Amino acid sequence: MSANFENRAGASQGDGSSVGPDAADERAADAVQAGEAPDPELERALEFPSLILVRHPLVRHKVTLLRSRATPTKIFKELVEEIAMLMAYEATADLSLASVDVETPLERARGVHVAGKKLTLVPILRAGLGMVEGILRLVPSARVGHIGLYRDHDSLQPVDYYFKIPGDVAERDFLLLDPMLATGGSAVAAVNSLKKAGAQRIRFLCVVAAPEGARKLAAAHPDVTIYAAALDRALNEHGYIMPGLGDAGDRLFGTR
Ligand code: URA
Repeated sequence: MSANFENRAGASQGDGSSVGPDAADERAADAVQAGEAPDPELERALEFPSLILVRHPLVRHKVTLLRSRATPTKIFKELVEEIAMLMAYEATADLSLASVDVETPLERARGVHVAGKKLTLVPILRAGLGMVEGILRLVPSARVGHIGLYRDHDSLQPVDYYFKIPGDVAERDFLLLDPMLATGGSAVAAVNSLKKAGAQRIRFLCVVAAPEGARKLAAAHPDVTIYAAALDRALNEHGYIMPGLGDAGDRLFGTR
């Protein structure tokens, strides 16, 4: 990875708001020592060295609102944008900086700006689109590519029906976006396509992950750090994440 976007697989922030495997391990041990019931989500996270759970209180609060069946489309959309923005804050924590001078109204001061190539957001159509605006509010100069996938009837494998990303692929830092990491089939296919196009630095951001999807993505692409706001229990027989939040695309776009 470039200096501005190191692979953070297995890292934890250490500020209590996000949890990589080391911090999850410590917290699980602390809970046992304190006689508390271990947090099942943290216990599940121990399996995934390439997963970072973003557990800032605001993120957890907003995910709970998102889960509620009573949350209407407009609020659901706003919550996905806000959660995506907060997750992107975490996922861009190691962007490298270059020094710049700035004139304040009083004198010249030393400052910094984000160095390197533009960050590139790649939503997986269609639900990934819901995460774009929130991140663009944080990083307005980011470029946006798109990946559309369908499942081939015979092979049952995901196939690109749309793939468009900016040039200079090898120099860019990619944030691949899909609110739900369910079976992991689309995520693996999207990373395959990005890598085939030359992408070398990819992070995957989802709101809710299922262990099955995290397992599949981590096995196929251990170099891709997965950021999730929640790691839920399991998939049900219809491929929905449990407890999850339902069909994210339908809830975002009111197409139920
Ligand atoms: N996609 C969704 O939108 N929801 C799920 O629970 C699983 C996949």
